[in-house]
Amino acid sequence: MENCDTNTTLASNSLLSSLSVTPQVVLSPCAACKILRRRCAQKCVLAPYFPPTQPAKFIIAHRVFGASNIIKFLQELEESERADAASSMVYEATARLRDPIYGCAGAICHLQNQVNELEAQLAKAQAEIVNMQVQQTNLMNLICMEAAQSPQELSPQQSLDNFYEENTSLLWEPLWT
Ligand SMILES: [Zn+2]
Repeated sequence: MENCDTNTTLASNSLLSSLSVTPQVVLSPCAACKILRRRCAQKCVLAPYFPPTQPAKFIIAHRVFGASNIIKFLQELEESERADAASSMVYEATARLRDPIYGCAGAICHLQNQVNELEAQLAKAQAEIVNMQVQQTNLMNLICMEAAQSPQELSPQQSLDNFYEENTSLLWEPLWT
């Protein structure tokens, strides 16, 4: 799996954008510096994305990626891209801790299987619709033929009603005896 593909998918994920809300006020010391027991500088690269109110986010990302890698990854990016990057690292780390073998790929694979199953269900339902439409057309043709033969002049809808009445009574009659 290509990293860039994963990132594109994650960036367009609404869950991710809801995670990547940049706090307006940067609180100090940030969760990262507090956990790393270092002084939180005014231009701390981690502070905007790891506020002290959410220490779990940094703990999880630090456990999987390591603080120095997180800092390196963020420094390589434009400032406008860092919030999404920090969120995706937290997301990926959470998935990796939950599923140490497949991580994020496990979640993607599971969702792909779901999509495949749903597509198969949809195809089946569409085939059933086509089948029912054919049955209805055949039924209408039959009714029209009957109406043409009968002396009474009935509209196709009246004929359909009559047809259903006659046939439902026939169908249900044996149940009541
Ligand atoms: Zn800091």
